[in-house]
Amino acid sequence: MSDDCIFCSIVAGDIPARVVAETDDALAFLDANPMARGHTLVIPKGHHQRIADLSRAESRAVFDLVHELAPAVEDAVDADAHTIGVNDGPDAGQEVPHAHVHIIPRFEGDGGGPIHVAAGDRPDLGDDELDEIADAIAE
Ligand code: 5GP
Ligand code: ZN
Repeated sequence: MSDDCIFCSIVAGDIPARVVAETDDALAFLDANPMARGHTLVIPKGHHQRIADLSRAESRAVFDLVHELAPAVEDAVDADAHTIGVNDGPDAGQEVPHAHVHIIPRFEGDGGGPIHVAAGDRPDLGDDELDEIADAIAE
């Protein structure tokens, strides 16, 4: 728990939230400033900023809850699809420094785009560079 973290305060019950699901290690609640009807956040109960900071158990708890909730969110607001994403780090747009997964319901003709738009301009990569990157990640 971090004293000045808004999501830790929600976990502790010190700040109200519209909680939609809770497990031992994860909590899900409606986003207070939703991008769409039903916009839901799934967080680990423990305070960690980045996805890689979670223990395997916490990671499982968060992503299992995402897996379970996504269809329920979609049904609840009669959406056509959803975008699931994480702003993992400030340079990716993370504003609340407590890891969270966004489930954003999507509707036909909602004016949004695919998650690809979040990454900016596409780099021009040759085969050698792609091979190098794949090797570095695999290592
Ligand atoms: P980020 O940019 O960090 O990925 O997204 C943070 C999200 O948390 C935003 O969508 C914002 O609307 C939401 N948020 C920020 N403060 C609160 C809060 O106090 N309660 C709830 N339910 N959502 C919050
Ligand atoms: Zn926190």
